[in-house]
Amino acid sequence: MSSTLRFQIVGEAFKKKPIEVPNREERPSEFFAKYVFTRQKMQKYLPAEVYKKMCDVIDGSAVLDMATADAVAAGMKKWAMELGVTHCTHWFQPLTEGTAEKHDGFVEHDGKGGMVEEFTGKQLVQQEPDASSFPSGGIRSTFEARGYSAWDPASPVFVIGDTLMIPTIFISYTGEALDYKAPLKKALKAVDKAATAVAQYFYPDVTKVISNLGWEQEYFLVDEGLYAARPDLLMTGRTLLGHDSAKNQQMDDHYLGSIPMRVAAFMKDLEIQALELGIPCKTRHNEVAPNQFELAPIYEETNLAVDHNMLIMSLMKRTARKHGFRCLLHEKPFAGINGSGKHCNWSLATNTGVLLHGPGKTPLDNLRFVTFIVESLMAVYRHNGLLKASIISATNVHRLGASEAPPAIVSSFLGKTLGELLEQLETTASPILSEEGLNLDAESHSPFEKVGERLSLSLDIPQIPELMQDDTDRNRTSPFAFTGNRFEFRAVGSQQNCAAAMIVLNTAMAEALTDFKTRVDALIAQGTEPMKAILHIVREDIKTCKPIRFDGNGYSEAWKQEAARRGLDVETSAPIILDQYLAPDTVEMFARMKVMRRNELEARNEIKLETYTKKIQIEARIFGDLCMNHIIPTSTRYQSQLIDNVHKMKEIYPAETADRLNRTNLRLIEQMSEHNAFIIENVEQLIEARRVANRIQDYREKAIAYHDTVAPLIEKIRYHVDHLELIVDDELWPLPKYREMLFIR
Ligand code: ADP
Ligand code: MG
Repeated sequence: MSSTLRFQIVGEAFKKKPIEVPNREERPSEFFAKYVFTRQKMQKYLPAEVYKKMCDVIDGSAVLDMATADAVAAGMKKWAMELGVTHCTHWFQPLTEGTAEKHDGFVEHDGKGGMVEEFTGKQLVQQEPDASSFPSGGIRSTFEARGYSAWDPASPVFVIGDTLMIPTIFISYTGEALDYKAPLKKALKAVDKAATAVAQYFYPDVTKVISNLGWEQEYFLVDEGLYAARPDLLMTGRTLLGHDSAKNQQMDDHYLGSIPMRVAAFMKDLEIQALELGIPCKTRHNEVAPNQFELAPIYEETNLAVDHNMLIMSLMKRTARKHGFRCLLHEKPFAGINGSGKHCNWSLATNTGVLLHGPGKTPLDNLRFVTFIVESLMAVYRHNGLLKASIISATNVHRLGASEAPPAIVSSFLGKTLGELLEQLETTASPILSEEGLNLDAESHSPFEKVGERLSLSLDIPQIPELMQDDTDRNRTSPFAFTGNRFEFRAVGSQQNCAAAMIVLNTAMAEALTDFKTRVDALIAQGTEPMKAILHIVREDIKTCKPIRFDGNGYSEAWKQEAARRGLDVETSAPIILDQYLAPDTVEMFARMKVMRRNELEARNEIKLETYTKKIQIEARIFGDLCMNHIIPTSTRYQSQLIDNVHKMKEIYPAETADRLNRTNLRLIEQMSEHNAFIIENVEQLIEARRVANRIQDYREKAIAYHDTVAPLIEKIRYHVDHLELIVDDELWPLPKYREMLFIR
């Protein structure tokens, strides 16, 4: 690109006006879920008995039969056709991170040479997308190409444009998961079962526990013209070169600042569409970095929340283009400023309305609260390495460990009140050992409430204030922080499917609660009163999971050493972190909780390694091209201009004067030669490193080679490119600069 073209593009970007988003007559409450086949619509479009059956299917208490499916499909078709729908698709989440869809028209031959519009129960329930080109990690070899998608009735169908979208799982013919949704649903079932059993100690009427997820989606917006002029952004989603802008986020003037008009129009448009699709958008604001923003809905049941997050990411990308932007979901689009994450707020709640991670009013509630907090910590403690593996990627590594995001060690922050409460519980003598004050009469074995109350009081479990938010001071360095009535897992990357983290977290919680219950029941079987037994095991676990608790500064060098001493996973190399998917503890946990089998984990591990390698391979290629075809020629051209100037100085000045005046230019010429030489030589090395790595057959070894030899070279060369940017005439610089991309309004 010539420099004039660059200025033109920048100029255009600055001149753009917000596009007008028409004002809606209706209030959000009126158009909310307009394009979703909600229970209300089911009631309207389905016969009463079919509706009733579907409610049971959705709640998991009945299995879908073909007759019901046919009846549901008929009602759905009627509703969809009123909205002008002509096609339907199964919508699934393959292991590529995005979503996939294959559209089929409603049309069928009518047998008389014409067409009828058809949509059957079979089409609703099952499809066979040609699965051969989705990553399967060897589970389904390409020649078989057999996989199928099956409707997930727990996530309602919705309409986008002329298409009826049906959320589905995607599995192989032999039943292995080829997606995120299938294992997520199993993990949610496991945690429901385990948590219900434990919740029943406290509240016998509980019959179901729901996992909640509230994600916070961070993103960047860049003007479309500037984006198109950056091959690295276009191909990899991040800038592989570019010197810091003189002003970036150091003034702290962007976070929660007033939203630029063009962006506000985009947000409004996005929110209307999201609300129409039943996504309960609530919060929007500027984030810390320039051009960085966040959108957060109200939390929902985890399976639905994951679908909604996948949907919002694609809506964001599409809507951004309508407004002349590109939406960057990459975890680190720009070096030197904050990257983007997707904080996952997670909690469990009963079907009777108790938030299990929230403190309550009675001592019984508080013992339940402590139980669920401590078992969450047990889950995170036992699988801290696996949790890290669930969020590691070639892109998220740029964020983890930099001084802006959670560090590459998973630990948990509890805050002062809760931390002290656990200390107190831990140090009070065990009720099993010291019977004093626990002289419970025989009849108090039940009801639980009475026992719990008495026991808790006698043990001095302090009253826990309901609002702990203020106290759980915002420790931004903690990857897994308690925030009043939930945990916030902050290491999840902005473009990731949060299901990966939710599968691990919920399964680990299911395991922790199952083990908890086994031990409590063993004590009860020996004659220990239930609440005493619970407290005893809670105490034991407070001690066991202590190493995971850390309220200090997660970025400090001291913490890295301390964490290693505590036995936490401190590995930083992504391919090696991924080994955790096959660690004996992991395999055992997933098998016991009936979430994934070993071959499914092997497949996931292989896909993650392969994706890691490919991402860095693409970066290395495009980076090499940029260096050789954009940077070196530009730098050489400017250097020639300087050399020319040096010669001309000699023509017009006496030799001695010319030498004196030429000194600075000569120094620049020399610096540029050195940078150029470094770049050229190391790009050659980069190509060679890739060649060597590409010859490796083993997925893991190949990814390690890319991590150890290819990725570091990119960073090393970049340093020299970014220094050339400071020297070369701005007129000549071929790529939009950080200051141009980051401050478009
Ligand atoms: P922050 O101050 O951390 O940026 P936000 O308001 O942006 O908070 O987002 C908080 C998210 O946490 C929202 O999606 C909110 O609905 C969700 N949330 C609140 N309470 C719970 C809970 N008990 N369980 C799960 N998610 C919750
Ligand atoms: Mg937020």
